Amino acid sequence: MSINWFPGHMAKARRQIEESLKKVDVVIEILDARIPYASKNPMLDHVIGDKPRVVVLNKKDMANSKETDRWIARLKADGVYPVALNGKEPNVLKKIENTVVEATKEIFERMERKGINPRAIRAMIVGIPNVGKSTIINNIAKRKVAKTGNTPGVTKAQQWIKAGTKMELLDTPGVLWPKFEDESIGQKLSLTGAIKDNVVNLDDIAIYALRFMQKHYLDGLNKFYNINIDEDTEIVEIFDAIGQSRGFKMSGNEIDYERVTEKVIYDTRDAKIGKFTFDFAGAEE
Ligand code: GDP
Repeated sequence: MSINWFPGHMAKARRQIEESLKKVDVVIEILDARIPYASKNPMLDHVIGDKPRVVVLNKKDMANSKETDRWIARLKADGVYPVALNGKEPNVLKKIENTVVEATKEIFERMERKGINPRAIRAMIVGIPNVGKSTIINNIAKRKVAKTGNTPGVTKAQQWIKAGTKMELLDTPGVLWPKFEDESIGQKLSLTGAIKDNVVNLDDIAIYALRFMQKHYLDGLNKFYNINIDEDTEIVEIFDAIGQSRGFKMSGNEIDYERVTEKVIYDTRDAKIGKFTFDFAGAEE
């Protein structure tokens, strides 16, 4: 699903996005609402400069709604135009349109004052793999336009799609590389499915997820796996408890830790245990 990024890919992606940027009035940056910090491409700010930016916190159905509200407030304070979405819902076009209109209001008012004829607002979607770019474009276009797959930058010839009455959207999203400088960011990206499982150590991801839930969501964790741990339980004992409860055993009655690891990762990734936001908008960590 994801791709391996090499310096050549990154340079190409940056160049292609810079080219596309010249054609648009506003950039729609898609982030995963569960990890608004970790799912942000580190270079994008430099390239966008002071062009208006809409920031979509996508997959809000899988994130902690209180934390999403805090992120919205923080992003507003940072001077961008945020909106939280479930990219699969029918109201996506309206929500994005409203936010895009707000973000470009000044530019279009200035054009009007200069006597330039009103035209559609031109926008493009960018983001790292798997945040929901294709889902959102297809939803807005009401047909399948963007290939759900990942290639660096913008590869095929781009076309404008009519998006509602006020907006035109480039039909191919800008695919950007994820952050990889920090281990905990890698774990968050993997836990939410943004990077391949085989580039990170699965045990570390499961441990990260369990520690997070032990600290922030103990009751939910106990209830979901029908276990009884507390805030001081050692990590290996949590693995044991889940293995026991689920009957993940090998011959000789030993706990099958590999199965526990996979189960914890998939249950967390699919938001089965609860709706978590792993990046905090405030100082909490
Ligand atoms: P892209 O790589 O950024 O184009 O991401 P995709 O559009 O291919 O989406 C990646 C996965 O996330 C797919 O399985 C989508 O069905 C899923 N997805 C996208 N948006 C949402 C959302 O808002 N909520 C949920 N639950 N899943 C979503």
